Amino acid sequence: MMPAVLQAQDLVKTYGTGETGFTALDGVNLAIGAGESVAVVGKSGSGKSTLMHLLALLDAPTSGSVLLHGAPTAAMTARELNRVRNSSFGFVFQQFFLTPGQTVLENVVLPLKIAGVGKADRRRRGLAVLERLDMAEKAHSRAIDLSGGQKQRVAIARALVNDPAVIFADEPTGNLDSVTGAVVQDILFDLHRDRGITLVVVTHDAELAAQCERQVHLRDGRILQSPVPARPGPEEGPTGAGDGVAIGAVGGGVR
Ligand code: ADP
Ligand code: MG
Repeated sequence: MMPAVLQAQDLVKTYGTGETGFTALDGVNLAIGAGESVAVVGKSGSGKSTLMHLLALLDAPTSGSVLLHGAPTAAMTARELNRVRNSSFGFVFQQFFLTPGQTVLENVVLPLKIAGVGKADRRRRGLAVLERLDMAEKAHSRAIDLSGGQKQRVAIARALVNDPAVIFADEPTGNLDSVTGAVVQDILFDLHRDRGITLVVVTHDAELAAQCERQVHLRDGRILQSPVPARPGPEEGPTGAGDGVAIGAVGGGVR
């Protein structure tokens, strides 16, 4: 059986220490299989963003571990972590996090620049991904001049430009009106279906969550139901087995 792309084992995250310490995650176990779409849902403050940050190797747990393709990540150097994040992960956030004064294209190719890709290649790949998201005509506009929906498309383009295996999206529709949010949602799920990209989506949006193959409910830093213990074989496809509130798996999506 192939190991999960990402696996959380007994994750605990405490912010601060002593009396002022706050335990945001309290023993989370979760496996995310290749090509799965997983929604992390729960009330504000339940630990969703904290869990996503730990899975995305943006932050380290207080205890417990995150396995990447079955291998522990705790001993990885900052340089190795950067390389994994830059080459395998794409990030989409509620606040877009674009550099306002830069052009759309400059924003999109940033991960390529970090990865050391040459200028001509960056431009070619940046324009290709903008084309795919129907944003090519805005390539030379400044990010600050875009609407919210356009900004989120640019953020998705930037998340995609390195051809990531996993996209982490934290409230990707949180700052968008419902029509624009639906467009962004469709883009994410098209990518998931067509390219087999694994999606980890933190969301309050019930419609967005319902489109994921599996929902993980957090409350006070704990998962409400027992998680799927291990990833099913590729022939079975991802299932929500053992997950009381999971939406049943729809189709394969396994690469
Ligand atoms: P969610 O994304 O579900 O709203 P978070 O993971 O952002 O929840 O936060 C979970 C809890 O941890 C919240 O109570 C929040 O105030 C606290 N928290 C998050 N980040 C920090 C931090 N850097 N320092 C202190 N407390 C934090
Ligand atoms: Mg959050």
